[in-house]
Order: sequence, then structure tokens, then C-alpha cells
Amino acid sequence: MQYQGKIYRPWPEANSLLIQTTLGCTHNKCTFCDMFREKRFRIRDIEDIFKDIDEAGSTMHRVESIFLIDGNVLALKTPFLVKILEKITATFPECAKISLYAGLNDLRRKSVEELRELKQAGLTMAYTGLESGDGVTLERIKKGLSPQQAEQGMAKAKAAGIEVLLSIIFGIGGKERSQEHIQATTRLLNVMQPEELAPMALAIQPGTELEKEVEDGKFVLPTPLQILEEEQYLLQNMTGFATFYWGDHGNNIVPMKGPLPELQEVFLNRVNQAIATHPVCKEETLKTFAW
Ligand code: SF4
Repeated sequence: MQYQGKIYRPWPEANSLLIQTTLGCTHNKCTFCDMFREKRFRIRDIEDIFKDIDEAGSTMHRVESIFLIDGNVLALKTPFLVKILEKITATFPECAKISLYAGLNDLRRKSVEELRELKQAGLTMAYTGLESGDGVTLERIKKGLSPQQAEQGMAKAKAAGIEVLLSIIFGIGGKERSQEHIQATTRLLNVMQPEELAPMALAIQPGTELEKEVEDGKFVLPTPLQILEEEQYLLQNMTGFATFYWGDHGNNIVPMKGPLPELQEVFLNRVNQAIATHPVCKEETLKTFAW
């Protein structure tokens, strides 16, 4: 198997076979992200991708889940991606889940028919980053996405039957815009209703534009209490749509995961308790590690 550069996959994909399909991210501008800084976006030759799939097919006994890397693989032209998906399903007929990273704009730019074609070829799920539902915050972090575009991308995925895991970042609005960020994010989530939701506490990655903004005093980090209050607001105000809550990222103050709305009250109680008793609430900044 050929893997080039630093490799990332979402933590729920820890047991999946990774197939490198692209290098880097087409956007590569988000101020908080250093995942693909050193890579120029490139599509791997289809022969090389097929070679990797064949090699895995000859050495692995059973593969039930595959994740296509690197960044926004869904930016690929639909016929190209269909060929890869068909090759995967022919090689691993037992594989029940094929997922990839996708920008909400990548979903939005494809027609529902194209997305249905991808679903038909085997694509089951897309991991997408919303980060915030607040337009001002999205602009500040250079996400290249508006709340309206995010909503449109999600609507198309739903129409095509492709599940979406959406990530949001507690604290990405900074100290000053914490409330606006979480209120707008919660409002948008209630409209978008992703099948899975991954909320993560902000971690400043070394070498990013955001790190520089922190050093220059242009971005003031939220306190751990604000991070918890954002999660409290989210859990209090989600309208009860069905989603799986992946709130167990290593940087989260109260790691917890499970189905909502069944566990919404339980999770909210845990956050309330942390706000009342967790020693981290007295600190000015949250200690986090790189994603
Ligand atoms: S957050 Fe996603 S879209 Fe933004 S630069 Fe990183 S990989 Fe690309």
C-alpha cells in the first residue's frame, strides 16, 4: 500500500482500511487546520489506486469498512470516483461501509443524481466539517463556506441517501464570539439534522494562521468554562432529531458518545455537573493536543 505524506482519518474510522485516493485538500486555507499544509492537492493515478486495492484484496481476509483519504475526496469527478467505488465493491463484496472526507461545498456542487450514482456505486457516508453555523466565524476562519451553502450541501446528501457526519468546533468563535457561534451553529444543526455529529473542543495547531492570531492577540481563546457552556447550550437547544453524538474526542472536557435524543438529557446533566464541579473551569485556557 502506498501512503504519501501525513495521513489523517477520523477517529471513528480507526478500524477501517485506508485507501489513498487524493493528496491534500482542494481548499487548504482554514486558519485552524494544518492537516494538509505541506501537500499540494493532487489526484492519484487510477492505476496506482487500483494497485493498492488489489494488494489489500490479496492480503486481507475480510474488510468491512473502507475510508478514502486524503482531504475532500468528493471533489473528484463523479465518473472517476464511481470507478474506484466499483473496484472496491468488486474486490471486497463484504464491505458494508465506504466513507470519505467531503466539503459541504463538494456535496453542494454535485447534483442529487450524481450523489445517487455514488451511493449506488457503494458510497455510504461523508465526513464533513461545518465547524460553525455563524457566518462571521466561518469568514474569520476562512472556511470558504456560508451557512446557506452548508445547508444546501446537506440537503443534497439527504436527498441522495448518503449519511453525513458533521464536525463542529467548540470555541472556534473565540472568547468574544462564543455565544453567537454556538447559537447560530445549533440553529443550523437543527435545520441540517446530520445523521452523526462530532463536536470537538478547539485545539490550536502549531504553525497555523490561527496560532499566529493567538500570538498576536487577534484571537483570544475561550475559557474552558465557555467551551462547556457552548456544549451545554447545544444539548439544551437541539430539537430532538435523531443523530449519533461523537462527543468523545480526546480534547473534549467531558468525553461522551451515544445516540440522541435518547441520551441528550444524560449528556446535558454531565456537562452541567462539569460546569459546577470540574477544576478545569477555574483555568483560563484548556490544555489540548494536536488533532
Ligand atoms: S479544515 Fe478541511 S477544508 Fe479546511 S483546510 Fe483543513 S482539510 Fe481543508
